[in-house]
Amino acid sequence: MIVCEKIDQVRAQVAGARSQDPARVVGLVPTMGALHAGHLSLIDAARRDCGWVVVSIFVNPNQFGPNEDIDEYPRPIGEDLKKCRSSGVDLVFQPSVEVMYGSGCVTTVQVKAVSAPLCGRQRPGHFAGVALVVTKLINIVQPDRAYFGQKDAQQLAVIRRLAGDLNMLVEIIGCPTVREPDGLALSSRNVYLDEHERQQATVLYRSLLAIRDAVEGGSRDSAALVRAAHDLIEQSGPCEIDYVELVDPESIQPLSRLKEGSVLAAVAVRFGECRLIDNLLIDVGRDRG
Ligand code: AMP
Repeated sequence: MIVCEKIDQVRAQVAGARSQDPARVVGLVPTMGALHAGHLSLIDAARRDCGWVVVSIFVNPNQFGPNEDIDEYPRPIGEDLKKCRSSGVDLVFQPSVEVMYGSGCVTTVQVKAVSAPLCGRQRPGHFAGVALVVTKLINIVQPDRAYFGQKDAQQLAVIRRLAGDLNMLVEIIGCPTVREPDGLALSSRNVYLDEHERQQATVLYRSLLAIRDAVEGGSRDSAALVRAAHDLIEQSGPCEIDYVELVDPESIQPLSRLKEGSVLAAVAVRFGECRLIDNLLIDVGRDRG
């Protein structure tokens, strides 16, 4: 496995891999490190589809707000490299902030409407930071395919829109959310939860399943579905709900009444210092009412 810190090295290695076999499909899995089974599922998907797999590990300061957890964000780089090696990754790109932004970057990438609701409201500038770094990583690696988790559904929608609007020659692949046996979505931030909060956090997935059950039972009124999920989360104990919403999975715009098709139920809740998000794609059948 090759480990690169510099952009020119990555470009040379990718060019070398392509020149050995021009038909080789190159896959990119962008991450912020602290790799867990969710990240590894993206790497496995890339390994299955692609002849050459690049993983980037970069805690991107541009996507953190002023009061967010960038300094505390876990960075177990030795462990991460071991996991990449044993998962069959070909190249890890692990740039410094200096390498990514040192020469000054006055360009912004705004994916406007899709970035505005949900986490965009709570974390101003977050998706512009994500869109910029993903654009840079795609331009550096020039992969055929790039892999992202459905766990961050709004991020996936932003990146799909970005790649389409900017005519990027890359296929964006969304991968299913990997969960703990009790339903909690794996996240690098779960390490911040104390024992009680960890237990309480299972309410995120339970609230999403409750929405799905109600939709399957014929409920179509977003406000009522959201209210019931709010109640369930509040009953779980002390926490702060950022949002519970039902939105269109592509545009991320709120839906007041559910129509036949697909709806994204999305939640964000703070347990102590730790803000967690989760979501579920729900099939809405034909309205029987
Ligand atoms: P991060 O390191 O948090 O920026 O995540 C890197 C990639 O892994 C993103 O595309 C995430 O959506 C994805 N990811 C994070 N957690 C999970 C999970 N539990 N299941 C599947 N993918 C995930």
